[in-house]
Amino acid sequence: MRPPRHRSWGCFVLCNDSSTTSHHFTISEGGTGVNPEIRILDDEDTRLAEAWATLSPQLEALGPQAVLAWATKQFPEGLVLASSFGAEDMVLIDMLTRVTDHPVVFYLDTGLLFPETYTLIRQVEARYPLRLVRVAPALSIEEQGERLGPALWSRNPDQCCAIRKVEPLQRYLADKRAWITGIRRDQTPFRKNAPVVGFDERHGLVKINPLAPWSQKDVFRYLVKNQVPYNPLHDHGYPSIGCVPCTRPVNPGDDPRAGRWAGQEKTECGLHL
Ligand code: SF4
Repeated sequence: MRPPRHRSWGCFVLCNDSSTTSHHFTISEGGTGVNPEIRILDDEDTRLAEAWATLSPQLEALGPQAVLAWATKQFPEGLVLASSFGAEDMVLIDMLTRVTDHPVVFYLDTGLLFPETYTLIRQVEARYPLRLVRVAPALSIEEQGERLGPALWSRNPDQCCAIRKVEPLQRYLADKRAWITGIRRDQTPFRKNAPVVGFDERHGLVKINPLAPWSQKDVFRYLVKNQVPYNPLHDHGYPSIGCVPCTRPVNPGDDPRAGRWAGQEKTECGLHL
């Protein structure tokens, strides 16, 4: 584990009084140090929407790095960070490697990522002590073309995302207990109510969004302040970076996600719906 370069956030104690029929949670603060002292919820609690509705705002108040520290205690096994190596994911990789040793970080390699993204992946592997997992679609680009025709992304992007992103994600998460994502509430209308922690019914595990309340400015402020590497395309009009065929640069002042599936109704790849 790397030593923290910032302030410590104290020692937070998370209590679950499960002796009552309703679930009562409190967080108290005291002492110093980087590792929260946490009473672990049992598996049944982690599936309760009511439990997370109470806990999520309390965890949110602690800040993203403390949320990650809590997550490593709550889920010592089966915790994974999803990364597309966008700006938010780079913040999370940097934070997570400050609070735990060799976290598992996975990415969906659609086979259509930008060369700059593949270069960044190699930089991340060289710089951070983590276990990087490449998750690939069942079909190669060539096989997809043979079965469904060329350039499926231009004719049926939902089907293309289902094959190259959604199915691989579901397959990978099937035996995990919790996943961490870089979604922020102000990115899309679908994400505006994203909790910091909640149970993901669709995938059947806990979903942790430490940066949900952050703005894009917060993200880049962190990257610059901490000299975290990021995709150089961000400096060339690409605030959001996905696959090459479906990502365009945007003009200053445009919606940051306007360059994703430009000219189509589609705004989400289907991973976070
Ligand atoms: S973003 Fe585009 S190319 Fe990538 S999986 Fe989705 S439709 Fe296919």
